[in-house]
Amino acid sequence: MQEEIVIVGAGQAGAQVAQSLRQGGFEGPLRLIGDEPHPPYQRPPLSKKFLAGEIGPEGLWLRPPAFFTTNNIDLIPNTRVAAIDRSAKRLQLANGDTLPYGKLVLATGTDARRLKLEGADKKGVLTLRTIADVDVIRERLSTARRIVIIGGGYIGLEVAAVAKALGKDVSVIEALDRPMKRVVSEAVSSYFTTLHRSRGVDLKLNTGIEAIEGGDEVSGVRLASGEIVPAELVLVAVGAEPNDQLASEAGLETDNGILVDGCGQTSDPDIYAVGDCTRFYSNRYKRSVRMESVQNAIDQAKIAAQALLGQDVDYDPLPWFWSDQYDIKLQIAGLSEGYDDTVLVGSPEANKFYVAYLKDRQLIAVDSINSPRSHMMARRVIGETWRDDLLPEA
Ligand code: FAD
Repeated sequence: MQEEIVIVGAGQAGAQVAQSLRQGGFEGPLRLIGDEPHPPYQRPPLSKKFLAGEIGPEGLWLRPPAFFTTNNIDLIPNTRVAAIDRSAKRLQLANGDTLPYGKLVLATGTDARRLKLEGADKKGVLTLRTIADVDVIRERLSTARRIVIIGGGYIGLEVAAVAKALGKDVSVIEALDRPMKRVVSEAVSSYFTTLHRSRGVDLKLNTGIEAIEGGDEVSGVRLASGEIVPAELVLVAVGAEPNDQLASEAGLETDNGILVDGCGQTSDPDIYAVGDCTRFYSNRYKRSVRMESVQNAIDQAKIAAQALLGQDVDYDPLPWFWSDQYDIKLQIAGLSEGYDDTVLVGSPEANKFYVAYLKDRQLIAVDSINSPRSHMMARRVIGETWRDDLLPEA
């Protein structure tokens, strides 16, 4: 009989490992443990259609709930793994039970980063990562008139678009000089700045925050300038941090993410890790990377499952990503870091264009706006024409 595989974290990556193991012929016992009450679900709609109320929870499920029973996957919800005893190969659960494993896969994802700011614990200061978070945000949105979103990244901007469509007064406060600066070029940031402002969002750039105001309940945000922006709901959308504590406390190597090789294997040969919680060395980018995307969760999970089935694999993906804001779809192929030239094709005024990023006259990344064809072509062309000398060792 094949040894038992236990997966911790029943999200996008954990569910994919379970599915790929069964599809690949794994017949041994397979457990998928998650601390949320739901079957595995997709998070992208949480800040888009689910927040807007356009789809219900069943529209989020990654597989029909019956899939897990049919495929003999023991899905254990509402259960938090508290510790890993590597020498006994046992998991300590938060409810006091223990569980043995033969091979272990960590798919614990990330948590929303919190603000270490005076007043950040007031009622109405919220983050967005789970269905439960959206339930709280929705309830608050039903009475709040003024929303402040701290952070002009893709989650903050997506929520701004939904809140605006609901008729709210929305301010977005961004510390840097342009939104989504970490992931897109100036031209694309500038396009989204204009877009949000034209829809009535008060997008404040280069703006620091001093404190969250209010009594028990939030009443506003005090900026570094002293100005107070009133709000009944403050969403903190300043990025995410990997859930790597379980691994580090068990003595596995971590560095802002669980360190894994091209098979998803950690520093313990019996333990793998996949998805947002991992960091791996990319031969393509000649540096270690930690990705937070559906593409990475699915592709790395498939690779780890193949490795667990004894296949020779090496994970080095071309990353891709998307974001929906109002009726605009942004799609990103490749990482644009290190580019020395950009070419804009199409028309920002007509809301349909793409920006190609070049290095040494070679295409390394493309941001597409309402242009799915250019996105698909970019993924193919970048993949086929990639030159290894594009990004020399730092
Ligand atoms: P997760 O899906 O986060 O799953 C991890 C699971 O493990 C969670 O359920 C967690 O509760 C559980 N867990 C953690 N610790 C334990 C423990 N000790 N015991 C038991 N269970 C545990 N990506 C895109 O590509 N495009 C998008 O448009 C996009 N939009 C997004 C919008 C939002 C609001 C969010 C939050 C994310 C978005 N993402 C998007 C990112 C994408 O959802 C993640 O990259 C993906 O979910 C990562 O999958 P994962 O399985 O690694 O982690």
